[in-house]
Amino acid sequence: MSDRSFLNWPFFEDKHRALAFELEDWAKTELADYATTPANVDLACRELVLKLADGGWLDYCVEKKYGGKNPSLDVRSLCLIRETLARFSGLADFVFAMQGLGSGTISLFGSKEMREKYLPDVRSGKKIAAFALTEPDAGSDAAALTMTAEKDDDSFVLNGEKTLISNGGIADYYTVFAKTGEAPGTRGISAFVVDAETAGLEIIERIEVMAPHPLARIRFNKCRIPINQQIGNGGEGFKMAMETLDIFRSTVGAAALGFARHAMDEALERVESRKMFGAPMSKLQLIQAKLGEMSLDIDASSLLIYRAAWTKDNGAERITREAAMAKLFATEAAQRVIDEAVQIFGGSGVVSGFAVERLYREIRALRIYEGASEVQKLIIASQTLKENK
Ligand SMILES: Cc1cc2nc3c(=O)[nH]c(=O)nc-3n(C[C@H](O)[C@H](O)[C@H](O)COP(=O)(O)OP(=O)(O)OC[C@H]3O[C@@H](n4cnc5c(N)ncnc54)[C@H](O)[C@@H]3O)c2cc1C
Repeated sequence: MSDRSFLNWPFFEDKHRALAFELEDWAKTELADYATTPANVDLACRELVLKLADGGWLDYCVEKKYGGKNPSLDVRSLCLIRETLARFSGLADFVFAMQGLGSGTISLFGSKEMREKYLPDVRSGKKIAAFALTEPDAGSDAAALTMTAEKDDDSFVLNGEKTLISNGGIADYYTVFAKTGEAPGTRGISAFVVDAETAGLEIIERIEVMAPHPLARIRFNKCRIPINQQIGNGGEGFKMAMETLDIFRSTVGAAALGFARHAMDEALERVESRKMFGAPMSKLQLIQAKLGEMSLDIDASSLLIYRAAWTKDNGAERITREAAMAKLFATEAAQRVIDEAVQIFGGSGVVSGFAVERLYREIRALRIYEGASEVQKLIIASQTLKENK
């Protein structure tokens, strides 16, 4: 079993420790069939969302008022769940993460009616959620998005394209960000919920990636939605997207940490079992140096992730700097840890079927989505400069 000593850190309460151990036991049996990439990823995601709901884990994605576990989203629980799921199945982590991210803006800013309409079904796995911000010409520069939403009597009419949208093609609804023009730039963007069956919403491309999961390019062609499908106030969509990402960015770091811990477990097993130059590999000092650095990366990631989560859970309105640090460090560190694990496995490390080969593919996208590493550095710098004033 991976090192669990971090659970004794003061960031956690007894309920978090109990959650981590219960989920570990559940994942060992329930996720055994999902450790490797399934033949039909869409089907596996549909199975996993119901499995996660059945296990009670999706309860953590919504507030208690709508059937969830905690009075408000508990970021430490979200991080612990993602870390644990990622250790057992990258796809299970993906499914959990998207239920959270895809409903996060509704949880934080949606009207009571909207929350009642969507959140109970997100929790029960009846509705699969998605978050659609990125466009072909607006990724890191999300404010450059060109999709529009025009008011027409009691409707909004959406036109434009979104790309690299996780759960695209299998989602039941999309949280969509579009230009409404209340003010120039980011203050002229609003957020909407668009049901997948809305006329004019079309999946124009399914995108294949190195660690398969449902991903698509979507066209919105004169997509008419009722006015009450707007989330919160007009012109506040960009701020809402950033506040939603504040919470979920730390959880991306947590998923990376889960992948890194898995790689570490594989590496530790390998260095004890493989003999080289007449002794186990673990006796070689250059291998010990690798293990030392990997261990350090894992603990440092964990400290930053749970510092960010604890800060939010203890009442901080925003954790922009803390979440960016957690995401940046943990995803980069996990890439280093997994790369060293592959190196320790030698040729076998790049052979399909070995866990470290899969982890090497799985970690890569985490350094890009929800704000690439370069963007996180800029966020940390701007926060640091602001605090210095
Ligand atoms: C697997 C996967 C799943 C995704 N899921 C979703 C989803 O569900 N919803 C969604 O909305 N989006 C999603 N995305 C999109 C993701 O958020 C974007 O890919 C990401 O924001 C980067 O945008 P881009 O791909 O357009 O790259 P670009 O913005 O073109 O960036 C290219 C490179 O330039 C760097 N860069 C950016 N700014 C600067 C700067 N100022 N100086 C120097 N370099 C810079 C970037 O860090 C990056 O390395 C997903 C992406 C992937 C890979």
